[in-house]
Amino acid sequence: MTSLSQATLKFFFGTMGSGKSTQALQIRHNLTSRGLHVLLTTQLDRQAGRVSSRLGVSAEAEIITASSDLFVLASQRRTRAGLDAIVCDEAQFYSPEQIEQLARVVDLLEVDVFAFGLLTSFQGELFPGSQRLLELADERSELQVEARCFCGRRATHNARLVDGRQVYAGALMVVGDTGDRSDADVVYELRCRFHWHQAKWEHEGHQLALPVEPASRRPMINTPIQSDAEVRT
Ligand SMILES: [Zn+2]
Repeated sequence: MTSLSQATLKFFFGTMGSGKSTQALQIRHNLTSRGLHVLLTTQLDRQAGRVSSRLGVSAEAEIITASSDLFVLASQRRTRAGLDAIVCDEAQFYSPEQIEQLARVVDLLEVDVFAFGLLTSFQGELFPGSQRLLELADERSELQVEARCFCGRRATHNARLVDGRQVYAGALMVVGDTGDRSDADVVYELRCRFHWHQAKWEHEGHQLALPVEPASRRPMINTPIQSDAEVRT
């Protein structure tokens, strides 16, 4: 009889700017400094095969595409060079099937998986990959960061703005801030739930009088302040 794998699938989620890439790089560093073999993966080829944190640290990463089989990739890596853990950045963009492959990596290859990703899209719904991670992970943790909406409330939602107007529909994978669409200016901003809904509700003709006017309207913050917890080593 084979004994059950002791490895685990861990899912860390948070809004944009909650330090997911920083944490991913930190975990990779901690493991490799103990002599363990770690595969770092990402999904966005705009990063040219690297995971970069807003704090300036970066590392080479394997780019996962829609056709990548993570179980095959992990098996080959394990045979060739040894493999103790996979650290996945941008895990929200992995397909549900690829998340299944990660679960098999954990259970059949005894390789730990640390997946980092957003929970919900600019549409306010779970990414399919993140949904599967919530369903399958051994542990789920929310990365806490003091990211604020412009009204001062805690930011929990990602808003996509195209030419300054918030949109609720469109391709999931238009990557912001880099102008993937040649003519449109696409940026992402962090919002509280109310202000994430606001443009939609206005469009639908709902009355939007707030019981209390937000005390201070602070300027929009695209890059939220990093919490102390993230820069600690
Ligand atoms: Zn707000």
